Amino acid sequence: MNEFIPKIGLEIHLELSTKTKLFCSCLNDPEETEANKNICPVCTGQPGVLPVLNKQAVIYAYSLAKALKMKINEKSVFARKHYFYPDLPKNYQISQYEIPLAQNGEVDVMRENFRKKIRIRRLHIEEDTGSNIHYGNYSLINFNRSGVPLLEIVTEPDFNSSEEVEAFAEDFVLLIRYLGISEASAEKGQIRFEANISLGKGKELGTKVEIKNIAKVQSLKNAVTIEIERHKELLEKGEKIIQETRGYDEIKNITFSQRTKEEEQDYRYFPEPDLPPLVIDNEIKEKAIEIETPWDKRLRFEKEYQLDFRTNYLLTREKFIAHFFEESFSELREMIKDFEMTKKLVLNYLINDLIGLIEKLKINFNEKLVHPHEFAHLLFNFHQGKISSKIVKEALEMALKGEKNIEEIVKEKEKISDVEILNEIINKVVENNQKAVEDYLKGHQKSFEFLVGQIMKETKGRADPTLIRELLKDKLSV
Ligand SMILES: [Zn+2]
Repeated sequence: MNEFIPKIGLEIHLELSTKTKLFCSCLNDPEETEANKNICPVCTGQPGVLPVLNKQAVIYAYSLAKALKMKINEKSVFARKHYFYPDLPKNYQISQYEIPLAQNGEVDVMRENFRKKIRIRRLHIEEDTGSNIHYGNYSLINFNRSGVPLLEIVTEPDFNSSEEVEAFAEDFVLLIRYLGISEASAEKGQIRFEANISLGKGKELGTKVEIKNIAKVQSLKNAVTIEIERHKELLEKGEKIIQETRGYDEIKNITFSQRTKEEEQDYRYFPEPDLPPLVIDNEIKEKAIEIETPWDKRLRFEKEYQLDFRTNYLLTREKFIAHFFEESFSELREMIKDFEMTKKLVLNYLINDLIGLIEKLKINFNEKLVHPHEFAHLLFNFHQGKISSKIVKEALEMALKGEKNIEEIVKEKEKISDVEILNEIINKVVENNQKAVEDYLKGHQKSFEFLVGQIMKETKGRADPTLIRELLKDKLSV
């Protein structure tokens, strides 16, 4: 075993979707286009102001820490992190250092070809900075983002490939959307990834390189892949890796050196004197958002429904779809009692038709369009032979387009198998087509087909042709 093994850790910065900023009542509005609109003396660092902690941000942070199965510190401490940059008006950022909100979590990431436990080292709350906009040889500063609540989540260097990094990052974004604590939109800069990468033999860590400020999961994967290859090449040639911070150029798909790190920057952290320690009280615990994480859901779905990974992944990609699957499954199973048949029907029409249609029509799927109860009944009608597969698909499409609800469609399209009703229709057609009847009785088979056609037309295709033939023959043989 003389191969170099990549060891990768992630640092994630996530902006929270609270109504207001972390320490003042300015709006936290990432959509605001007017520069420096949502600002006040607190978030622009004027002398003599005092920060007041936004409890909603703490509730969101606590909810995420819980979902990541972390140990929560009942009492954590805010600290000042000192550095100078134009977008940081106080010359320090309020963050957490020695005692963060939470530590030591763990999640199970799975994909088709691997399963991996990833340990989460820490999660802390801090304030975001303003943003610099550079024009040629001058810069402008917009403080709208200054003081927006930000979470920093740091993992242990447990990833050994860019595929593992990608899987975790993708699932992390999904978790944030399940929780609803942020849109985690890469475009709006609400999530930023940093990866530190080193290659070493066996358990040893090599020289660490950081790649900073990556917004998209795909870019993160690309950057990590490139860095692993670059390290391998250098190490195999016997060259040294320089400890440095690198950037990633999305367009050229390359990483490039930003600055080498001779020593750790000294931020002169000290406890924030203007804020008391953060105590997790009952209100925070009660208002916390509790969800089943995508990781737990996949493990449970695998066991309960015996799903293959691909199916499992598709169903858990959105919280509502997962919920829809379970609701309709349980209702249909109640009716037809057969586990395998229920599974076959629900998965077939949910994955191939419903999800396909949602993607094709680009709609925001919700219960008002198709309720799991309606979906289960639609499939039940199909299972009972009352409607065809074609009708199931048509009904779903019409319902998703908001044209008609499923119950109406089924009623309209239900097959007519009631002999009395059919005989009534047959009588009417026979009466109105005496010429065809006479021709048939003279031995013209074509006239019989013509009559069958007329009856099918009357029933709008909702009757079984074999049954119609039988009934018509009976009628005409008299
Ligand atoms: Zn403010």
